[in-house]
Amino acid sequence: MHQVPPRETRVPRMHPLAVLPIFVDLAGKRVVLAGAGDAAVWKEELAAAAGAHVEVFAPDPCAELDALSQAPPAGSIAVVRRRWRADDLAGAALAVGALAGEEAAAFAAAARRHGVPVNIVDTPELSTFSFGSIVNRSPVVIGIGTDGAAPVLAQAIRAKIEALLHPALGVWAAVALRLRATIAARLPMGPTRRDLWRRFADKALAARAAPAEQDLRDLAFSGHRNCGSVALVGAGPGDPELLTLKALRALQSADVILYDRLVSPEVLELARREARRMLVGKAGGGASCRQDDINRLMVRLAREGKRVVRLKGGDPMVFGRAAEELAACRAAGIAVEVVPGITAALGAAAELQIPLTDRRHTRRVQFVTGHSEAGGAPAHDWPSLADPWTITAFYMSARSFADMLPKLIAAGLDPATPALAVSAATTPRSAHACCAVRDLPAVLASLALPQPCLILIGNGVAEARAGTAGESLRATAVAHS
Ligand code: SAH
Repeated sequence: MHQVPPRETRVPRMHPLAVLPIFVDLAGKRVVLAGAGDAAVWKEELAAAAGAHVEVFAPDPCAELDALSQAPPAGSIAVVRRRWRADDLAGAALAVGALAGEEAAAFAAAARRHGVPVNIVDTPELSTFSFGSIVNRSPVVIGIGTDGAAPVLAQAIRAKIEALLHPALGVWAAVALRLRATIAARLPMGPTRRDLWRRFADKALAARAAPAEQDLRDLAFSGHRNCGSVALVGAGPGDPELLTLKALRALQSADVILYDRLVSPEVLELARREARRMLVGKAGGGASCRQDDINRLMVRLAREGKRVVRLKGGDPMVFGRAAEELAACRAAGIAVEVVPGITAALGAAAELQIPLTDRRHTRRVQFVTGHSEAGGAPAHDWPSLADPWTITAFYMSARSFADMLPKLIAAGLDPATPALAVSAATTPRSAHACCAVRDLPAVLASLALPQPCLILIGNGVAEARAGTAGESLRATAVAHS
């Protein structure tokens, strides 16, 4: 087989942004607010909470606005009982108008003349900035924006993030802020310091309370090793939604990602932006890297103190050369863990709604390969693959299936047994074809299903729901046979 060395690949370019979220420091700055009513009160509270000196211009302020000005959450609030004037805006950091009609337009124009960013409540066409939904774990502040498309969606997202982040997270972040200088003075920049902060982040995200003295001591004393590691991570069959939370975490804390061609771009997109990405080949038939080279590279990077993620399509323990990679890490004394993924057969079964066991007609499920070290089909125990009451998933078999079929039939497989080929399961490119197993080689040849392609055989396969997901090629397949 043609071989190539591992090569570094570029981080994909950023997708277009509807707006740019930025974080404005308002401590001690003047914010001008015009208008009264609920919207005004809310914006007044928000600006004051961020430490601003808020000046509210309202000829007839409501009682709540007055009350808030007596007890602001931070900063200060001054209510001026008259209509705003253009020169009130001079030197303001931000301007907010809870106004309507011509007065709103005049306020926005005055703010622009003074070069002050302006928001007119519920009027994006007059505003130069908008407020997002906020999750407040100050100093961690999360802003959510939908560019006006769906405020209710923003609220729902906010609720999810609120549930995900414990209220004590803010205290952890505040502690980080205090410790930053001390740690910078004690630990040199590089893997050791980064490792300490990673462990700090892991602890902070898992914590259910504010940090105790002991938590910080634990971190300090375990922080002087330069501990590189390797994780064999399952990327699943293609749909990024099928990643485990653990796989996502590993991708987001990786220094280097060594990935196979089977890994979908959508999954790679979820990795930490700064992580180096290296394509190490391995895809049916095409050029690939030597397994020894991959092992050596993995061990070398981990020895340099890197967190290495070896990212594989599907599950790393299913036809993934995991044995060799685990052995290489163990022999080198490198800490290694395995994060499972959804293997292609399970992804395809879910997508096509084929139960892999069914007491009526499927008693067993088995995964086999159509590829041997020497090339061509391996020497299987053919009778065990000929049982029609089993679903057999053939991996890496699109090319060798024509050679295997006569052996299966000679071992007793009924040529009319239902068969299915599915390509790129769980991705937008997914396509599949169903036919009797005797016709499968001809169907595979005529349809030229793209890689990767999985073959499923057994009585239970007839349950596949045509057209449920992906493109069903059943009609073409049947016409051909
Ligand atoms: N570790 C992987 C398998 C690697 S072997 C897993 O657990 O899925 C490569 C083979 O997997 C391909 O030849 C193909 O048969 C199968 N495969 C992987 N992803 C697939 C997908 N999205 N659709 C169909 N087959 C897939």
